[in-house]
Amino acid sequence: MSAEAELREQICLLARSMFDRGLTGGSTGNISARTDDGGLLVSPTGTSFGRLDPARLSRFDAAGRLIDGDAPTKEMPLHTAFYDTRSAAGAVVHLHACHSVALSLLPDVDPDNFLPPLTPYGIMKLGKVKLLPFFLPGDPAMGDAVRGLSGKRSAVMLANHGPVVAGKDVEAACNAIEELEDTARLALLTRGATPRALTDAEVRAVVTKFDVEWDD
Ligand code: ZN
Repeated sequence: MSAEAELREQICLLARSMFDRGLTGGSTGNISARTDDGGLLVSPTGTSFGRLDPARLSRFDAAGRLIDGDAPTKEMPLHTAFYDTRSAAGAVVHLHACHSVALSLLPDVDPDNFLPPLTPYGIMKLGKVKLLPFFLPGDPAMGDAVRGLSGKRSAVMLANHGPVVAGKDVEAACNAIEELEDTARLALLTRGATPRALTDAEVRAVVTKFDVEWDD
């Protein structure tokens, strides 16, 4: 199987896995990945993560022209904003994940560091997650807001909407967005119970030991 055929299979397999576990429902969520020639494979608009067809993914060339497959997700500006500002990004995934959306609705979250420091993996895989304001679906201003971060964040949370995460490849991006949702779930489960979060010194130790991008 060619590298591109394998990538197509992997995108659909991981999307299906997330759908099957309730991480994004209906026809929500979108995913993209860099191909070896500098182009992109993107989930088509209106498709369900449970039923992506490897043969129908939107295929872009390195110049950003759609060359094959169905029309891409309407949230394409979000994806290109990450690729244009983070040269190491090999994949971008966006979910409408329940617990992270719930956390984004609460009044006292820190917009610069959306997730509380509850586990080392949340820090290692995501760094600081920026909470962006609410935008109308499909508003290209979402992409502008990501560009405004100048590539300093691999993960953002769109308020009242869902997380978007870039990774070095599809597996890394999917693992990281699952960590985001799990951490949001932990935050909600322990909310009001004064959980023992990691201390600043413990966070710093994780950041140093695992060489985490930590935008101070
Ligand atoms: Zn969305």
